[in-house]
Amino acid sequence: MKSEIDLRLSPKEASDEAYYLPLVAKKMKVAPNKITSMRIMKRSIDARKRPIVVQLKIEAYANAKPPKQEEVKFDYPDVSNSPEVIVVGAGPGGYFAALRLIELGMKPIVLERGKGVNERKKDLALLNRNEAVNTESNYAFGEGGAGTFSDGKLYTRSTKRGDFKKVLEVFHYHGADQEIMIDAHPHIGTDKLPSVIKSMRESIQQAGGKVLFDTKVSDLLVENSKVTGVVTESGDKILGRSVVLATGHSARDIYYMLHNKSIQLEAKTWAMGVRVEHPQDLIDEIQYHSQKGRGDYLPAATYSMSCQMANRGVYSFCMCPGGFIVPAMTDADEMVVNGMSPSRRDSPFANSGMVVEVKPEDIGEFQNKGVLGGLEYQKELERLAFVNGGNGVVAPAQGLADFVDGNLSFELSETSYVPGVIASPLHFWLPENIGERLRNGFAHFDKRARGFVTNEAVVLGVESRTSSPVRIPRDRESFQHVQIEGLFPCGEGAGYAGGIASSAIDGERCAEKAFEFVSGKSVTEKS
Ligand SMILES: Cc1cc2nc3c(=O)[nH]c(=O)nc-3n(C[C@H](O)[C@H](O)[C@H](O)COP(=O)(O)OP(=O)(O)OC[C@H]3O[C@@H](n4cnc5c(N)ncnc54)[C@H](O)[C@@H]3O)c2cc1C
Repeated sequence: MKSEIDLRLSPKEASDEAYYLPLVAKKMKVAPNKITSMRIMKRSIDARKRPIVVQLKIEAYANAKPPKQEEVKFDYPDVSNSPEVIVVGAGPGGYFAALRLIELGMKPIVLERGKGVNERKKDLALLNRNEAVNTESNYAFGEGGAGTFSDGKLYTRSTKRGDFKKVLEVFHYHGADQEIMIDAHPHIGTDKLPSVIKSMRESIQQAGGKVLFDTKVSDLLVENSKVTGVVTESGDKILGRSVVLATGHSARDIYYMLHNKSIQLEAKTWAMGVRVEHPQDLIDEIQYHSQKGRGDYLPAATYSMSCQMANRGVYSFCMCPGGFIVPAMTDADEMVVNGMSPSRRDSPFANSGMVVEVKPEDIGEFQNKGVLGGLEYQKELERLAFVNGGNGVVAPAQGLADFVDGNLSFELSETSYVPGVIASPLHFWLPENIGERLRNGFAHFDKRARGFVTNEAVVLGVESRTSSPVRIPRDRESFQHVQIEGLFPCGEGAGYAGGIASSAIDGERCAEKAFEFVSGKSVTEKS
């Protein structure tokens, strides 16, 4: 007999199969020794009030041999001699597109401006020692894209657009823990992501696909509104009838290149603000409603906050419990912060972006710069943060309570940001439409989570790369650019995804559309 059992347990009980086996047996109306197999299908934590409850969905078998668990497995066929599709960018969008192309029998040629994941680590180490940013190898550029040195959170609201479960399976098949398949809020962790990404690359190469690093695409070849290939910075032409353009939202040069070629772009809503960091213990105390903190059985607490301030959303973004703040700029005169955390989420800090929605009409005189005005405005705020920071990538920072109250910070609490921080009046120099909304937003969040606004927490500027201010518009059905045949704008840089999972889903969808374009067959016909 097979049953699916829902249990609501204390964190301690949920950690111990010996405790809940009798409960499962009771619900199945059998003796405990008749249970032949139990497997957690889903796990989530309900921390809205005390006592904290862990919800488990368990698949159990009694008096019967459980069927053999199917191993998650992907067979990537040999595509060495198959029709080629150019994929620009080796982020989640690009790599998932490449793997899906292989499944469909096409040979991906992945072109990546940055380095392979291991080489990339060395540049990040230099950056964290406050050396100048390498413009081609940093937290945004290089194998695995912006998602490699991150928290690796894998949730998305865009599950309707594609197969989220498959994305989890592909990550698991390439080395991510089994846990991601059951957790309500799965994450991989920055310590594990590089080997997962490397393994995905090996799958592409073993199947006969190509991955070329240090290969920056600087131009697109177009004839009669049809793409015919790309040009790399070293002048090589790589020809092909279809190009999946998955360059992420930090590749500003790509937007300028497209704009200069009169290829249609659209301004879109994005968001920017600061990164806030608290002691993790404080967030545990607030979120788990206990001065004793999280105890031995609960994970580092997370939060998600949002409100409306003067008709614009103010919200937490990419919260990293037990994590680190990192320098995420791509150029020398910019200051950008973001967050990551290891799989165990065990640093003593909890950081999160806290951002304000920015609509195309919110950027003042930058609107005069046309469709790329948002990009210029984003860049200007990053320059402002740079000049208000210290030398190199030292970040401007302010106590959170001081930021909200408009006071100068004379002393800053410790942060996880390795290159260092310098006290700076962010409340003063952030543009009013962003700074004012943020300060009011924080005050509002403090009413819901008492103790959140404190000088034990620090805000660092600026969190500006949440999403792209520009969209590369594509046809709803064919996914090709509205104007250029064979060009498939993909992932976060195209403005059709936000985050690792949704970029991965979009990568798969773009690959399917590219397959249909090149082969003239439909994906359903193929499968
Ligand atoms: C520090 C950090 C932490 C994050 N944490 C999370 C998280 O926990 N969960 C989450 O869902 N999201 C997170 N994100 C966001 C997430 O990483 C992105 O949403 C996602 O990576 C976007 O995928 P993409 O493939 O569209 O673009 P990207 O990941 O940006 O990849 C684009 C790739 O294209 C390459 N490229 C750019 N221009 C060129 C060119 N001209 N020629 C060749 N190659 C080029 C880049 O080098 C890059 O490798 C984080 C981002 C950062 C920076």
